[in-house]
Amino acid sequence: MALVDGLTNIPNRRQFDDYFQKQFKDCAKNNTPLSMLFLDIDYFKLFNDWYGHQEGDECLKQVAQALDKQLHALPDGLAARYGGEEFVCLIPKLSKGEVGQIANEINQLIEQLKIAHEKSPVSNYVTISIGVFTAILGKHIDKDNMLKQADEALYQAKDKGRNQVILRER
Ligand code: GH3
Ligand code: MG
Ligand code: MG
Repeated sequence: MALVDGLTNIPNRRQFDDYFQKQFKDCAKNNTPLSMLFLDIDYFKLFNDWYGHQEGDECLKQVAQALDKQLHALPDGLAARYGGEEFVCLIPKLSKGEVGQIANEINQLIEQLKIAHEKSPVSNYVTISIGVFTAILGKHIDKDNMLKQADEALYQAKDKGRNQVILRER
């Protein structure tokens, strides 16, 4: 149970860290790409303020379950709750183009859950922003750098107006 998030029932950060460690090694050895997605709910503080913390928890569960299901459909994909209203996904083996398409599908999928968010400036429904980093692993990239790049891409997605995907690669 120490590997599962208590609220959402999906993998927690610890499970993600273990899995990332393993996938990073495998992908480096086989020289296959590895992608990391950082996802953050848009204007979630406004959501909590308007609908209450309990509805906020329900929202987190729904988003988490949708991500979990989507990532399970991919070979070796994993979605985890990273903390608060932030999630992280790992997608090994697929190209930047493929991952970009998947990230955009995830973005639309969450909005299509149609969780009402009437205070959101960007939609009538709950939306997420996604930062993606795809690495062809070699000596120029390390694990911490991958996290940093995905986080920076997420920050850019927020900065550019939220409810969107920003892709980076190396
Ligand atoms: P942004 O679009 O920039 O991401 O804005 P935001 O409001 O989503 O971001 P901010 O970091 O200001 O607020 C995050 C909120 O998430 C604040 C906090 O109360 C809420 N939150 C974090 N964890 C939980 C949780 O477990 N349950 C609930 N209901 N809310 C949570
Ligand atoms: Mg946040
Ligand atoms: Mg947020």
